[in-house]
Amino acid sequence: MTPREYCKIFAAEARAIPDFGAVPEIIPLYLIYRPANTVPYATIEEDLVGPFERYCVKERDGSLAVQSSSEIAQKCCAFQHWLYQWTNGNILVTDMEGVGWRITNVRIATKLKGYQGLKESCFPALLDQFAAAHRCNRYCEILGLKSLESLQQPAKPKGSKSPSLGRKAPSAQSSPQLQKKGLASPQGTRKGAVSPKASRKSTEAGEAQLAPKHKALESDRSSQLQ
Ligand SMILES: [Zn+2]
Repeated sequence: MTPREYCKIFAAEARAIPDFGAVPEIIPLYLIYRPANTVPYATIEEDLVGPFERYCVKERDGSLAVQSSSEIAQKCCAFQHWLYQWTNGNILVTDMEGVGWRITNVRIATKLKGYQGLKESCFPALLDQFAAAHRCNRYCEILGLKSLESLQQPAKPKGSKSPSLGRKAPSAQSSPQLQKKGLASPQGTRKGAVSPKASRKSTEAGEAQLAPKHKALESDRSSQLQ
């Protein structure tokens, strides 16, 4: 589903709530063919007439920002929260700007591989950033959204810093290079603070995790040879 389709579902839900009022709409993009142009394909939007405003956007430094406290901006934030919850923390709309209630230029961050044909996850860190930075407004409350803190909590007692760390683990296991990278960086930056013993321990733990895999491979091979 595209952000526009998600937004339609959101709008349907919001309209069912008497107190919610107007709902932002993501306007469609059209693809046009311009053979005479150096870039033959272009996307065009319906004409947006009026002052262009930025509501919830991604800053140049990569941080998420809410640009205004208007009703529209608050509802855009509520839509971000709604979509985040609806997709179990897998999809975030990162840019919402436009004219009045008509939103355009939306971008998406996702942890899902294969979303909209994407081969890799796309700015996955932004989803965690959103979960930490989002402050619920009255429209989140009207929609009955769960606070993001409560969504995050189940992973905390286990000692991992954030749910994303826990979720990243399986992919790190499948590629040993990534895992080593992750281990190496804290050692490099905190050489003085971490004792060599501790860092050795962590590499051993990393190797130990991989060991069963090798064994399995070897036994496969030997059984094939016999
Ligand atoms: Zn919220």
